Amino acid sequence: MRSSQFFLPTLRENPTEAQIVSHRLMLRAGLVRQTAAGIYAWLPLGFRVLKNIERIVREEQDATGCQEVLMPTIQSADLWKESGRYEAYGKEMLRITDRHEREMLYGPTNEEVITDIFRNGAKSYRDVPALLYHIQWKFRDEVRPRFGVMRGREFLMKDAYSFDLDFAGAKRAYNKMFVAYLRTFARMGLKAIPMAADTGPIGGDLSHEFIILAETGESAVFCDKSFTERDVLSMNIDYESDLEPIVKAWTTDYAATDEKHDAIRFDAIAPERRVEARGIEVGHIFYFGTKYSEPLKAQVQGPDGQNVTLHMGSYGIGVSRLVGAVIEASHDDKGIIWPESVAPFKAGIVNLKVADAACSKLCEDLYAKLTKAKVEVLYDDRDIRAGEKFAEMDLIGLPWQVVVGPRGAAQGKVEFTNRKTGEKQEISAEEALNRLT
Ligand code: ATP
Ligand code: MG
Ligand code: MG
Ligand code: MG
Repeated sequence: MRSSQFFLPTLRENPTEAQIVSHRLMLRAGLVRQTAAGIYAWLPLGFRVLKNIERIVREEQDATGCQEVLMPTIQSADLWKESGRYEAYGKEMLRITDRHEREMLYGPTNEEVITDIFRNGAKSYRDVPALLYHIQWKFRDEVRPRFGVMRGREFLMKDAYSFDLDFAGAKRAYNKMFVAYLRTFARMGLKAIPMAADTGPIGGDLSHEFIILAETGESAVFCDKSFTERDVLSMNIDYESDLEPIVKAWTTDYAATDEKHDAIRFDAIAPERRVEARGIEVGHIFYFGTKYSEPLKAQVQGPDGQNVTLHMGSYGIGVSRLVGAVIEASHDDKGIIWPESVAPFKAGIVNLKVADAACSKLCEDLYAKLTKAKVEVLYDDRDIRAGEKFAEMDLIGLPWQVVVGPRGAAQGKVEFTNRKTGEKQEISAEEALNRLT
């Protein structure tokens, strides 16, 4: 992509409405624009990041054997009346009446719809276990939408649902999602800590929130330092094997949000190992037994011919919130620092002197070769001041910058910069090509 053709409306000044760094940077770097309170449009740069995050979430869900579906955003109120949640959900639910005066709603979550689909489609124990997910926009009329996409009213969520005959089956599904979540967030360069979370009126201890530590987080959290020191991606995962040992290893040390905080257990940790911090909830997994299958009569015939009410779980990830969370975790005073896995482009080429024939030729050549090799690159081919180009490249945070000036170009040399470390190296254009492909 050429900068001269790319729609990238950046802002020089800090927008006054943004209270936290990710919100400021998302507006300044032209990732999103607010269209109404808590409702955002995704511009080209931001949309690329959103898609990358979505892709990682999808790949890790697919790896567990979870199957992707797509349910609508608009739901009928009938199912919610059947589950008993229509009144209980309260003002967070956006209620809509259609032209026939039918009560509809914009889905804040999908337990009812998926349970309805599954109860109509599944007949016997042979149809379970089943794990289904979708990635779809949700609407929750949050009292205080704030922090940009972190607490929007319309937001993109991955929500998965599991159906099993009994608790043991449901726990296997839970463990799959638990491990998939560890991998999903690690691939985005995030350290997400599974923390014991409140299960509300259902009770039990089978709920974990996946929390990123950040000063601007909305929850107070407490954990053992060990969680910040673990390597997730080197673990070899076989989703067909028993995942209980892995889940055990990740749930033994202390980690809890304030609702579940146990000061006695926390104080038993060596003082230098205690982490008391703020956190952002990026995912939440939940076993809720027959809470929805009971009222909605989601049953299958068991091996003995008797009907069994299904045990269910639900598993959410805040896909759009993650864009903000990654920025909270990775930025400096100049701008965003994207981890390669989610970066909108892998590299940027900065042409320091468009009028210089050799300089432009080298840039064009590099751009053509990278594009051919399917490396995503943003080529700043505009005839503007170098300082402006540098500032924008740093702001939008592409992992690698290839800076080409007339002097270097005369010798086939470029300056190759790592956005994260700031390390600069003068290397040949060919070497730059090798490093990026
Ligand atoms: P929160 O505690 O932040 O209000 P929640 O517990 O209500 O979130 P869940 O119902 O667990 O949210 O939904 C699953 C995931 O969806 C959350 O872990 C979070 O990452 C994301 N999410 C929830 N509400 C929002 C929102 N208003 N804006 C963006 N993402 C959200
Ligand atoms: Mg909420
Ligand atoms: Mg929550
Ligand atoms: Mg939650």
